[in-house]
Amino acid sequence: MSNLAGIDLGTTFSAIAILNDIGKAEIVPNAEGERITPSAIYFDDADSSIIRVGIEAVNSRHLNPDRSVRWIKRHIGDTDYRLSIDGKDWTPQELSSLILKKLKQDAGIENGEITDVVISVPAHFDETRRKATMDAGTMAGLNVIGIVNEPVAAALYYATTHNVAGRVLVYDLGGGTFDVTMLDVKDKDIQIVCSQGDHALGGIDFDRKILEMFEQGYKDHHDSELISCREERAKYEDEAEDAKKTLSRRDAVKKMLYGQAGSMRFEISRQQFEEAIEPLISRTDILVEVILEEAGCKATDVNKVILAGGSTRMPVVRKRLQQKFGFAPEIAVNVDECVALGAAIQAGLTKLKDEPDKISAGISGGLKDVRLKDVCNHSYGTICAPKDRQTGQYVVENRIILPKNTPLPCEKSQQFYTMVDGQTQLEVTVTQGEDTDPDYVNKIATEVFELPPDRPAGRPIKVTYSYDTNQRMHCRFEDEESGKNLEVDFCIGANDELTRADVEQKAQELVSFKVE
Ligand code: AMP
Repeated sequence: MSNLAGIDLGTTFSAIAILNDIGKAEIVPNAEGERITPSAIYFDDADSSIIRVGIEAVNSRHLNPDRSVRWIKRHIGDTDYRLSIDGKDWTPQELSSLILKKLKQDAGIENGEITDVVISVPAHFDETRRKATMDAGTMAGLNVIGIVNEPVAAALYYATTHNVAGRVLVYDLGGGTFDVTMLDVKDKDIQIVCSQGDHALGGIDFDRKILEMFEQGYKDHHDSELISCREERAKYEDEAEDAKKTLSRRDAVKKMLYGQAGSMRFEISRQQFEEAIEPLISRTDILVEVILEEAGCKATDVNKVILAGGSTRMPVVRKRLQQKFGFAPEIAVNVDECVALGAAIQAGLTKLKDEPDKISAGISGGLKDVRLKDVCNHSYGTICAPKDRQTGQYVVENRIILPKNTPLPCEKSQQFYTMVDGQTQLEVTVTQGEDTDPDYVNKIATEVFELPPDRPAGRPIKVTYSYDTNQRMHCRFEDEESGKNLEVDFCIGANDELTRADVEQKAQELVSFKVE
C-alpha cells in the first residue's frame, strides 16, 4: 500500500481510501471495522482532553447534546461560527480536523502513516470553503496535496473501474449537499463539462421533514409537544433518519413516540414522505435542468447517469431520474464509497504530475492512461466603473474575466481604463461569482496598484487571469503605457484570514487533544 489517500469529508459520514501498489483505490475501514465513519464528534465529559469521533459520538449525543457536534460541514468557511466547549472556542476547521484526524489515525494502524491526501469538496464550494477544508486537513497533520470536487471524484472512480462512455451525468445527493455534474468520458479520458449545486440540500433536510411529521402527529393526537429538551430532540433526529432509511426499503414505517402526554404509535407511508420532501426534490430537478442547459444538451443526449451520496438510495430519486432520462441510473457500486475512492485516484494523479519520481512504478503504471480535464467552477472577475452611454454616469459593476466552466488550464484578458486625470492609484479587486452587481459576488482579493503620476484619464490597464490545473489562479494587472505590473498570485482562498503559519500553529495546539 502507498501512503497516498483520498478522503470524503462528508456532512454525515466520512471515508478514507488509499491507493494500493498497482494504483487501485481501496477503502480502509476504521478502528471499529466500519467502512464509513459518522462525521460526529463528542467531547468526553469525564476527561476533556479526549474527543470521541464516529459511532461512539453518535451514540453519546443523547447523553449531552451540548458536548456533541454533527453536520459541521454545513458551517465550514463560516468565520463567525464558534462552538464553546470547556472554555475553548472551536472553529469549523478545527472541528473538521478532528474527524480527519480519526480517519488518518485509523487508516494508519495497518497501513503506516498516511501523509499525502486529496480531500473532496462539493463542486459548488467557494474559495473560502475550499481553503477552510484544506486548513482542516493541515490541522489534522495531513499534507493536503489537492482538493477534488465530489462528483468529479465519483466520476473518476466509475470511469476507471466501470464501463462508462459518452455523456455522463453525476447526481450526488449526500447528507448535507447536492451536486450535479456533466462530463464526457472516452476510455479513461474524463472531461468535466459543467457543475451545479446546492450547499444546503441533503439527507439532514429529509430527516427534518420526518421530524416535523413526528411532532405534528403527536400534537394532533395529544395536543401536546413531543419534544421538550435538546436530549429528546437529538434522540428523535436519529429516529427520523432511521425512519427515512426504512422508507427506502418499505412502503411504510411505524415508530413509537413518547411525549409528556403519553405514548402513541405513529405511521408514515412512503407516499406521505415523498409528498413532504417534494419541494426539496424539485430543487434537484431544477439544477438538473440548469446543467443540461449549461452543457447545451437534452436529456436524450445523456448516455449514463451515475449516483453518488447516501440519499440517492431513496426510491423517489431513482424514479425521477429514470423518468427524466428514460433509463435507470447506474447503481453498481456503493454510493457511500465512490467519492473517497475517486479522491484517492486523484491523489495518485496529482503526485504523478507534481512529483513523478516519488511514486512507485506500480502506481504510475496503474494510472498512466487516466486523464482528467476539469473546468473553472466559478466565474472570476473584477470590479470596474464604466460610463453609462445614456446617462453619462459611472456605474460600478462586476465584470467577468474568466467565465464559469472554462476548461483548465485557461487564460483570459480584458482591457480597462483609468478614470481621472492624475490617477496614481487603482484599487483592484478579484471577484468570484456570476452577478454583475458587486454586492452579490465574493471579493476574494483586494490590492492597491500604484500608477505613474501626471497622466490624463483613460490610460489602458490590461487585466489577465489564468487558472491552472492545480486550482491555482494568477491575476495580472498591467499598466500598458509604463509596463508596470501588479501580480496577484493565488492558491485557493489565499486571501483568507488564516495564513499557513496560523494553520500550522493551530495544528500544534490540537496535538494535545486525543481523538478516539
Ligand atoms: P453521504 O454523505 O453520501 O454519506 O450520505 C449520507 C446521507 O445518506 C445521510 O443523510 C443518510 O441518512 C442518507 N442515507 C443513507 N442510506 C440511506 C437510505 N437507505 N435511504 C435514504 N437515505 C439514506
